[in-house]
Amino acid sequence: MGAQTKGTAASGHSALLQTLEAITGEGHVLTGPGLQAYEQDWRRRWHGRALAVVRPGNTDQVAQVVRACAEHGVSIVPQGGHTGLVGGGTPDDSGTQVVMSLQRLNRVREIDADNLTLTAEAGCILQAVQAAATDRGLLFPLSLAAEGSCTIGGNLATNAGGTQVLRYGNARDLCLGLEVVTAEGEVLQGLSGLRKDNTGYDLRDLYIGSEGTLGIITAATVKLVPQPAATMTALACCARPAQAVALLRLARARLGATLTGFELMNGFSRELVARHLPQIAQPLWAAGQAPAWSVLLEQSDDQGAQQAQQRLESLLSQALEEGLIDDAVVAKNLTESRGLWHLREAIPLAQAEEGLNIKHDIALPVSRIPAFIAQTDAALGQAHPGCRLVNFGHLGDGNLHYNVQAPATVAAADFLAQHESAINTLVYDAVQRHQGSISAEHGIGRLKREELVLRKDPVSLALMKRLKAALDPRGTLNPGRVV
Ligand code: FAD
Ligand code: ZN
Repeated sequence: MGAQTKGTAASGHSALLQTLEAITGEGHVLTGPGLQAYEQDWRRRWHGRALAVVRPGNTDQVAQVVRACAEHGVSIVPQGGHTGLVGGGTPDDSGTQVVMSLQRLNRVREIDADNLTLTAEAGCILQAVQAAATDRGLLFPLSLAAEGSCTIGGNLATNAGGTQVLRYGNARDLCLGLEVVTAEGEVLQGLSGLRKDNTGYDLRDLYIGSEGTLGIITAATVKLVPQPAATMTALACCARPAQAVALLRLARARLGATLTGFELMNGFSRELVARHLPQIAQPLWAAGQAPAWSVLLEQSDDQGAQQAQQRLESLLSQALEEGLIDDAVVAKNLTESRGLWHLREAIPLAQAEEGLNIKHDIALPVSRIPAFIAQTDAALGQAHPGCRLVNFGHLGDGNLHYNVQAPATVAAADFLAQHESAINTLVYDAVQRHQGSISAEHGIGRLKREELVLRKDPVSLALMKRLKAALDPRGTLNPGRVV
């Protein structure tokens, strides 16, 4: 009987695979070994096994694939660039889920320069979207270290943040309209380029940040802004996070809306970059030692380079006089500016090279950050002597990547197996005490699902579950993620 049931399931699956190939064309339904790129995430923390990988080529094919899978009771894991950090785009171990790669939906459909909008398909690589805007003298300001691989669909599905949120907002703030395939396989035509549209519930915002659990984003209309005339970057160092927060306050007062980036790095994160990526320049090291804290500031001005440089230098002089910083350098040209950003953006890679680690992508009120760091560093040092803290992030947005690396003398895998859960509890308890969030920009996925149940307001959680049941009653889309 068991064998018969299995046989029925297998023949059902093979009928589904044939249907999927009829929809998407030969070569676009992948099965068997060799699917690691789709079954294992960027950090190699999540592994799964897919029934198949299907690669539709347009919105209509996405809708047909969803309908076919729903009819067969087979669930779908949407996947863009597969750079997500919470296990949301990796199939489970059952071998029964279909991974839907959106990467063939990769056309920029339209740029409307007067309306300052761009419409792109979900599988467009973020860097390609930025380049299309640049070609027209405009800027798409979403920017993150994974931009060469992640897709605009994935960015919206995770409501990605990155390094320009301080000025331009996160993916949600940059999106005006969406085209979505629903869990029932209908196409929601919401590609509006309107900045004002109060015609009922905002369905767009429901899908943004839903991590593929409510619908499949197939295209988006996003906002563009004029290119700034000049961008200036500086690196400053200080002894304590409270000084970095005071520098942020001063920079906001002096630079106003031209302050476009304000990133924080602790000494250990810079040491990791020096160790694993020694080709990257390391300004402001004194006596062979990384400064305790470094701040990367970016200013984007519409007044031209000379004025931008003067404003930034004058700000830093005042910060030096007031004792907020110990030293600073302003990048003299684009190459130096890129070098400073490279230093900041190389931290996740250097950290991965150092070994497995425990990531916390947290948000806090900026005013609470110095106390949070002092208290949590001390508590972790006491509970797990020798553990190493890789603390960096988007200070201007109140977003820290507060990551814990095993002591240098302990095998990382053993350390994680033994202490990950206790460390998460310690860190997230502190986040809650300081009125923060356990996920600032990476999402919930599979990684933080249980933590969400423990920490989210129960009414919010119940409403989220009701929404999921209403929009995806058969549980076709990314089951086991978020709620
Ligand atoms: P994937 O990883 O493929 O998918 C992510 C989630 O979205 C999954 O749940 C998936 O099912 C779903 N999904 C994907 N495409 C669709 C779609 N078209 N429709 C519906 N659901 C979909 N994030 C930040 O916010 N800020 C950062 O600064 C940042 N830096 C990073 C640096 C590095 C080196 C790396 C590796 C990641 C970083 N991230 C950062 C994580 C970030 O979430 C992703 O890089 C990006 O937003 C995900 O896009 P993706 O196309 O790779 O999505
Ligand atoms: Zn980040």
